[in-house]
Amino acid sequence: MLCTDLNWLPTSIFKGITYPKVVYIDSSPDYGGFYEAGTNILTCVYCDNVESTIAHELRHYLQWINGWISIGSEWKQTNSYEESIKSYFTRYPHEMDALLFEYKHSKSWLNEWWLRKLVLNK
Ligand SMILES: [Zn+2]
Repeated sequence: MLCTDLNWLPTSIFKGITYPKVVYIDSSPDYGGFYEAGTNILTCVYCDNVESTIAHELRHYLQWINGWISIGSEWKQTNSYEESIKSYFTRYPHEMDALLFEYKHSKSWLNEWWLRKLVLNK
């Protein structure tokens, strides 16, 4: 579902901060989307989980505003896809935090599956 704004999220999230802008692009090596630290732009790649992506990138924006200096993250598939997912989210706490935020505000089959793999290991 394509969502061009943020008004489906609780307004309390945006209390005292500048609303970010959501920009859509057709393709990127960063699956889903990305947030470039220091900007107020959430970039979303056209995909089938637009709301989850917006929630995820919004969390990175909130992390930046709150001074959580991210060391960045780099996706690498080394072993199986599942092992790579586990490694990614355990290596980068800010990514796990964004995944949990995304799950809370825009549950999808994908973030639910990832969390089940990561937390319940099944
Ligand atoms: Zn992320």
